[in-house]
Amino acid sequence: MIVLIDNGHGVDTPGKQSPDGRLREWAWTRAMARSIVDGLRETGIDARTLVPEEYDLPLLQRVNRVNALCRLHGAANVVLVSVHNNAAGADGCWHSARGFLPLVAPNASRASRRLASILYAGARSAGLSGNRAPLPAGYVEQNLYICRHTLCPAVLTENLFQDNRDDVDFLLSDEGRRAIRDLHINAIKEYFQM
Ligand SMILES: [Zn+2]
Repeated sequence: MIVLIDNGHGVDTPGKQSPDGRLREWAWTRAMARSIVDGLRETGIDARTLVPEEYDLPLLQRVNRVNALCRLHGAANVVLVSVHNNAAGADGCWHSARGFLPLVAPNASRASRRLASILYAGARSAGLSGNRAPLPAGYVEQNLYICRHTLCPAVLTENLFQDNRDDVDFLLSDEGRRAIRDLHINAIKEYFQM
């Protein structure tokens, strides 16, 4: 099994930051991806960062990297999780929406949906599911390029809101980083039933 952890955007992506500039999505997600990968490796899982580069690797190239490994090892033996921070607006202002959200593509496999709902259950029990209505399915479907075009099970995680003050404080805290890292590691282990 190979677990690929993707990280959103790049140093050259405009916007995608907290209104006060303290959290930048590309940097937070890269540090988080490395931390998840390190934690998974400690448990013996072959985990790898998909985009070690700091710039915004185009989505087509991200998909090509994933699918090359799928062709080499079999799509059933590869899993992709793409790590992002959510945003309620693109107006540079603070907003009220909070919480963790797993997303799958409309054409998602049963395996993708299972991993997404494990992640959501973990978020709920860790108190990270935020202030919006609970998701009966445990995930939201969205037409995401990286999930739609990759051959393996794929989930995109929106890790709290970069335009909510409380979420940003939590995301930048040691406690918050640990909670989000552990959420991913535990869900991926449960997905593999380890
Ligand atoms: Zn993003």
